[in-house]
Amino acid sequence: MFRDRGVEIKTPAQIDRMRAAGLVVGETLDLLRRAVHAGLTTRELDRIAEHHIRSSGATPSFLGYGRPPFPACICVSVNDEVVHGIPGDRVIADGDIVSIDCGAIVDGWHGDAAVTVAVGAVPAVATDLMRVTEESMWRGFAAARLGGHVGDISHGVEDHIRATSGFAIVEDYTGHGIGSAMHQPPTVPNVGKPGRGTRLVEGLALAVEPMVVVGDPWTHTADDGWTVRTDDGSLAAHFEHTFTLTPSGTWVLTALDGGEAKLAELGVPFGGR
Ligand code: MG
Ligand code: MG
Repeated sequence: MFRDRGVEIKTPAQIDRMRAAGLVVGETLDLLRRAVHAGLTTRELDRIAEHHIRSSGATPSFLGYGRPPFPACICVSVNDEVVHGIPGDRVIADGDIVSIDCGAIVDGWHGDAAVTVAVGAVPAVATDLMRVTEESMWRGFAAARLGGHVGDISHGVEDHIRATSGFAIVEDYTGHGIGSAMHQPPTVPNVGKPGRGTRLVEGLALAVEPMVVVGDPWTHTADDGWTVRTDDGSLAAHFEHTFTLTPSGTWVLTALDGGEAKLAELGVPFGGR
């Protein structure tokens, strides 16, 4: 069922399929987080991801996506690369921060999530950047209630970043609705005002994905047509989860525990089944 300018409302059974896809994504990222080390190429990470996604009976969402068709199963974005990095011959080095974005499809239903991982000893500012970015995503989930609005999430993300750091928010890219396609309305900006935007109803699923940088928020796309870098070369972090709201609370479909532990920390009711 579609309503509110193309917003797709899923049945509970369809959300359960999205949970299956979300678990494949969560497991893949968990595997990659543990596999990342200095000396590995970003292409090797992609191979690990593809093997896990396919052996789970799922399909990689990213392979062949868009124009030019994305040539890999995950995005790997290192240091000043914000998002959409193409896996290849780049060798991961000690001190890098590596953002990995993964999408998978089960029975036509999508999951989408991302993490930024530190390799070896990274500068303190990189650790701070990653912590603030990940925490802002959770503050976004914590701000979401049935009957609320997308702007509540945006504000939750923005407020946490501005209140706890001097880092800048990349506004050129946003979170999004997700379901029978990876990218659907509504957009979920990482800055915004409470009470604005699409209403949060049961059956809506959203990917929340703050992209935060140490320096200026301006970015450009590289000649490969995909890789997004900061103009000033400063470090970027990216975290993402797909979530939904049920009558009992919040359910993070791409988190292995459904988000239960972190939501409890934030005093948010867990809505998973
Ligand atoms: Mg993603
Ligand atoms: Mg996404």
